[in-house]
Amino acid sequence: TVPVLTIDGPSGSGKGTISRLVAEQLGWRLLDSGALYRAVGYAAGAAGLDLSDVEAVTRCAQSTRIRFQPSADGHDTRVLVNGHDATDELRTETAGAAASAIASIPSVRQALVDMQLGFRKAPGLVADGRDMGTVIFPDAAHKVFLTASAAERAKRRYKQLKEKGLSVTLSGLQREIEARDARDASRAVAPLKPAADAVLVDTTGMPIADVVAKVFAVVRP
Ligand code: C5P
Repeated sequence: TVPVLTIDGPSGSGKGTISRLVAEQLGWRLLDSGALYRAVGYAAGAAGLDLSDVEAVTRCAQSTRIRFQPSADGHDTRVLVNGHDATDELRTETAGAAASAIASIPSVRQALVDMQLGFRKAPGLVADGRDMGTVIFPDAAHKVFLTASAAERAKRRYKQLKEKGLSVTLSGLQREIEARDARDASRAVAPLKPAADAVLVDTTGMPIADVVAKVFAVVRP
């Protein structure tokens, strides 16, 4: 079977960056599952749906076409939602909050299962999200759960969003991230929590290279 490394954790724990770097080093594919929830939240918003309308949002999750495409310079991945490049819109904390809202609907999560399983192809997959090790790839050979202090996670997201030219405040972002994490951790389906067999890594104050080395060692001890 194709090996899978799952990297789960709250927002700003470093999952995205670490997953990308480790996938590059291993030469494995990458699944950014958060982008799928962001894409559905975005598509639902663009269609003017009420995000609490379970049936309408579920139909939206079933019918939204999501594609990952390398950017022209090859340095980054663009996300196409129903043919529209929504990468920039998907990055905002507004999109994160919409993703978190629709992600608590079981039938929405169900609609995205097959797409996620489809990413498992040779020579291997690095899967980044909240429930990769617990729900989507419970049989994964390698599982990591990244954490960091709330203050540090907010600071990292702040830096990322600033670099992308978005106007945000640190205190506002920290409040939004805390609300999102609380919702993700307390929802009835696929709550954010480490798999029983995951290796926990607290990345507070750790340079990226050290985190990459730690995660790499889980796969190639
Ligand atoms: O990782 P990211 O911040 O892009 O995820 C956005 C939201 O999507 C999360 O806050 C969470 O509610 C949801 N999500 C999820 N399961 C995943 C990945 C993301 O519920 N595997």
